[in-house]
Amino acid sequence: NKQVIFKGFIVGIPKETDMEVKVGKIELKAPKGSGAILVKNLYLSCDPYMRGRMREFYGSYIPPFVPGQALEGFGVSKVIDSDNPNFKPGDFISGFTGWEEYSLIRKTEQLRKIQQDDIPLSFHVGLLGMPGFTAYAGFFEVCSPKKGEYVFVSAASGAVGQLVGQLAKLHGCYVVGSAGTSQKVDLLKNKLGFDEAFNYKEEPNLDAAMKRYFPEGIDIYFDNVGGDMLDAALLNMRIHGRIAVCGMVSQQSLDNPQGIHNLFCLITKRIRMEGFLQSDYLDIFPRFLEQVVSYYKQGKIIYIEDMNEGLESAPSAFVGLFSGKNVGKQIIRVADE
Ligand code: NDP
Repeated sequence: NKQVIFKGFIVGIPKETDMEVKVGKIELKAPKGSGAILVKNLYLSCDPYMRGRMREFYGSYIPPFVPGQALEGFGVSKVIDSDNPNFKPGDFISGFTGWEEYSLIRKTEQLRKIQQDDIPLSFHVGLLGMPGFTAYAGFFEVCSPKKGEYVFVSAASGAVGQLVGQLAKLHGCYVVGSAGTSQKVDLLKNKLGFDEAFNYKEEPNLDAAMKRYFPEGIDIYFDNVGGDMLDAALLNMRIHGRIAVCGMVSQQSLDNPQGIHNLFCLITKRIRMEGFLQSDYLDIFPRFLEQVVSYYKQGKIIYIEDMNEGLESAPSAFVGLFSGKNVGKQIIRVADE
């Protein structure tokens, strides 16, 4: 059983050498009386929050990874053997699994059975999985969007950002995205339907860039990055603007995250700034699935994936998230269906 092992707690930006691909042993059976299922992993999701689990004193909503054991994360898997009446061999599922070829899953309550149709299976860790749901819940539940509003999205071509922008367009908003390469900017403008996009790495002054793209200010900032971008956005928010604090990928690897200078704008502009976790909104997951599947089938949204092949490529795929190497949702294909 090939596995991606977490070697030990880290400081700073993750490196490929923080992980190791090794072959371990596993019995390809779900033990009798365990209630567990044995799955073959097909697709694994690389997500920025996993960096947090590489820290010993994490103090967060999910425990750290265990040194010496395989990483875990969201995946799409096929049931091979089952000691659980809710699952049978041949079922496709999505949920938490190991970064390995085969996993024995005991916590089956968190799994979702995939109803197979003509949607790619890998979408269940992207568009129809945790990142897509984050975009949907964050935009509709936290941002309280109204038709015609001005929306700014950072890390806009990524797993979450690309859907936020498309949902905002469908809602009748004006949408601008930022990303870190000209290729991504091109995708945002020419494939994903953003009204405008810019490469923040080529902007000497983020405040000036925002004033250029939002001469009348920003109603909604969907923040995926934190740091300087958040500071500049604060200066450009409109009165009664909303900031959904989804993630702070620019700060995640720092021991001392940088300070935000422009928080006084919260008062002068009566801004509502709210952090959120997608997991607090799971009651609306069925509505999300129905709506987004329908948009996808009608060709109203697209979803860009960055697919790496094989478990050997997993460490570099994960590390690439923190330098913007991924173009779209980063996934690892472990095995064929
Ligand atoms: P992405 O697919 O967007 O990948 C990460 C991207 O972040 C990179 O491609 C890169 O894009 C950008 N990035 C990396 N380092 C920096 C940096 N130092 N400064 C600015 N941008 C950087 O990831 P996701 O869409 O999966 O996640 C986006 C955000 O949403 C993350 O912060 C994540 O933690 C958060 N999140 C929050 C959830 C919640 O429930 N609150 C759930 C899921 C995700 P670029 O080339 O544009 O720089």
